[in-house]
Amino acid sequence: MQNYPIFVDLNQQRCLMVGGGPVALRKIRLMRLAEADITVIAPELCDDLRTEFGDSITHVQREFADDDIHGYRLITAATNVPAVNKRVSELAQAANIPVNVVDQPELCSFITPSIVDRSPVLIAISTGGGAPVLARMLRAKLEAFIPASYGDLAATMSRYRDALKNAMPDERDRRMFWEKIVQGPVAELFFSGRKQEAEQALQSRIDRSPTADNAVGEVWLIGAGPGDPDLLTFRALRLMQQADVVLYDRLVSDDILNLCRRDADRIYVGKRRADHAVPQGEINQRLVDLAKEGKSVVRLKGGDPFIFGRGGEEIELLAQSGVPFQIVPGITAASGCATYAGIPLTHRDYAQSCMFVTGHLKDGSVDLNWPLLATPNQTVVIYMGLVGLPSICKNLIAHGVMETMPIALIEQGTTQRQRVFTGQLCDFSESIKDQSIKAPTLIIIGEVVSLQQNLAWFKPQGQ
Ligand code: SAH
Repeated sequence: MQNYPIFVDLNQQRCLMVGGGPVALRKIRLMRLAEADITVIAPELCDDLRTEFGDSITHVQREFADDDIHGYRLITAATNVPAVNKRVSELAQAANIPVNVVDQPELCSFITPSIVDRSPVLIAISTGGGAPVLARMLRAKLEAFIPASYGDLAATMSRYRDALKNAMPDERDRRMFWEKIVQGPVAELFFSGRKQEAEQALQSRIDRSPTADNAVGEVWLIGAGPGDPDLLTFRALRLMQQADVVLYDRLVSDDILNLCRRDADRIYVGKRRADHAVPQGEINQRLVDLAKEGKSVVRLKGGDPFIFGRGGEEIELLAQSGVPFQIVPGITAASGCATYAGIPLTHRDYAQSCMFVTGHLKDGSVDLNWPLLATPNQTVVIYMGLVGLPSICKNLIAHGVMETMPIALIEQGTTQRQRVFTGQLCDFSESIKDQSIKAPTLIIIGEVVSLQQNLAWFKPQGQ
């Protein structure tokens, strides 16, 4: 091991910073979070440093002099004069004061790691000063996986330590208890911001009150986005990795499904080969039953559960049955497909509003408010519109939309199989009829489609 890791208590400790530029500012920010008493020696402070910390640091306005190093717990040099940095390092090391020269590991007696701060939880990452980019990348990964309210959870756990010790004298029992807490519904309550409920749940589990171990699980209704697994949210991924069982339908790709906990049972509730979907009522009931067995149930939906996703219907029964649930938004197809196709849904020059509609056929006809859809300066996004496309185009033209209005169809948007077809309203359905188009597809109509030519950026492999 090249360095010995320690965490230093700097609260009210005198620390010296030589240099007053932006590099010094970055380090000062961190030291101030640790409540250090900071003296800055520099002929000038940069504006940001003066505005942010002018009142909370001591500024000695001059060049560094050899005698300056005495009386400090830590010294940092961040000037742009190599000779000064080197001199600070030599003097500090001769006086046995830990010293850091920013970005020059060979002049440092300590280095500062990349950190993930969920105080009181603090994670430090170091590559020995040699590959800071790698440390930053690791940091980003950890940031993504550790919920923002982890610190709250840790602080609460530490407050309840004694209470648990009294209630549960055996150390092994306590460890198992905490393991269940940090991986279960109590922690999830914290992460979703319901701190008070979380504490109550924790307290009742410690008290072993009758409600403590009631076996009701929880349902997480999660938006899986339009296809590209990278478009999942952090929360979606975290909950997926805790699932006991996952109910999913046709729009959820294998790539996304594979990100669920490996041991989770998978239940397909989409359309069967005979085009026969599991009835909605049955899905709703299934969610309730599984949760009542004490399971953590993930209900994965394509896109966003609240946009043409029947999310509302699925949670209604949960709410009535007293089953706890959370809803995680996802990127809806309109947003994902438009972005990956290079079509801005709004644009100051072309569209001041945007409308999402379903083109699902009702009684054999497309049942839409045509005058509203034909309003100028707006973008219309049609979900489930492929079958009704000829009738949609015809109706729009009949209600005054220009025959040359740009239109796009995005097939399997955001995936490696994405294809984008563009054309004009009057002959579009004719022009794509030989393309053997596969579901799912999204239709976008509006002037903004004309921008696609210049803005298309996403190139699926092999295209
Ligand atoms: N809740 C989903 C929509 C479900 S309705 C969401 O928010 O996206 C299903 C329709 O969504 C499909 O018929 C299609 O029109 C659209 N859709 C979903 N994913 C898509 C994708 N990757 N590419 C194109 N269209 C998609």
